[in-house]
Amino acid sequence: MIDKFLEGNKRFIENDFAKDREYYRKLSTGQSPTALVIACSDSRVNPERVVDAKMGEIFVHRNIGNIAPRDDANLATVLEYAVKHLKVQDIVVFGHSDCGAMKALDAGASDEDVYIPEWLEHAKEAKILADEKMPAPETPEAVREKRKMIEIENMRIQLENLRAYDFIRKAEEEGKIALHGLYYSLETGEVSRVF
Ligand SMILES: [Zn+2]
Repeated sequence: MIDKFLEGNKRFIENDFAKDREYYRKLSTGQSPTALVIACSDSRVNPERVVDAKMGEIFVHRNIGNIAPRDDANLATVLEYAVKHLKVQDIVVFGHSDCGAMKALDAGASDEDVYIPEWLEHAKEAKILADEKMPAPETPEAVREKRKMIEIENMRIQLENLRAYDFIRKAEEEGKIALHGLYYSLETGEVSRVF
């Protein structure tokens, strides 16, 4: 399986790297991305690719469900480095359609899983709100609508969670960074601004 990727790397060098040597030479000694994107680990959601960004433009943190917990050392380190050292101007929570994490949140925890239910606790308010608005969706369209509601509400919650970090809230208040929520549709390929 991995041979496929090594073959792909040869094509990357030939079709991209070798044609833009000066750009990659600069990248080899430093980066100055303008945005931090917090995206889902989903294999169908590649934030750089769907916004046609070049390497070096986006600092990326990915996890299950594009979640930004208030007490996560991994995320906190990424935030600190991106804001204080790289001085990114934008932080984006990058949600998407057909999110497996949000489906799992909607369906309820599996008894066999240990870590996933605990992780999804960070998004449970999205499920609570969607349940209040659409307690029992009956048609497939209504089920999809409710899932999207959970996906969008989850993005709003994670933006709130980001603002719970003192240095993020302060940087936003001082106009040094702006927070956004972008949503990627797997059906159309379109990225839309939600927050
Ligand atoms: Zn997802």
